[in-house]
Amino acid sequence: MSRVLLCLLLHFLLFAFHFSLLMAQDEPVDIDEWQVMRVEAAKDPFANRDQFTINFANYTVEEWCYPLPGAKVNSPFGGARHHGGTDLQTFGNDTTRAAFAGEVILSGPYFAYGNCVILRHANGLETLYSHHSRNLVKVGQWLHAGDPVGLEGQTGRATGIHLHFETRVKGQPFDSSRIFNHENNALIRQIFVVTKQKNGSLRFTSAKVE
Ligand SMILES: [Zn+2]
Repeated sequence: MSRVLLCLLLHFLLFAFHFSLLMAQDEPVDIDEWQVMRVEAAKDPFANRDQFTINFANYTVEEWCYPLPGAKVNSPFGGARHHGGTDLQTFGNDTTRAAFAGEVILSGPYFAYGNCVILRHANGLETLYSHHSRNLVKVGQWLHAGDPVGLEGQTGRATGIHLHFETRVKGQPFDSSRIFNHENNALIRQIFVVTKQKNGSLRFTSAKVE
């Protein structure tokens, strides 16, 4: 075989391989219809009420995932610089994971957040993952809890490789340590109550479950 033919064949094989990868990403995920409806409802968890409840005590291991397994907190929420998220760090360029099942509502560069992903969940919360070296999901895609979201990185305004992780209600961030125990990378077993107050601000309360 001539060198030209061999080269053409190689290129074709490479193209076919990449094409099959692209196709594989587009395969639909088996998400129940009821869950789609619940995420639709979660667009405005206060549509016809001023309070909603999430029973984290009932969550099975398939229903939640720590967003960056093995990570330590290197900057908590709040403080003097009004940090809007929790900075989580591992030793490498590790995979960030969907905290709960849901829909990708944003994936792309987003100002100081760098490569950013926002997920909307059926439970009424949203989660945000930023400074990714690369996003692994597309807008409109459905994820199970634990599915890869991106690769930990340093894009946007970031010092060192880390994940800036936010938990939100209707775009308003709250301290993720209210729902995750960052010491042991675990979900806090509790009845979590979010109340919209008269002045529009949110109040978070919780009842521990035995
Ligand atoms: Zn941060």
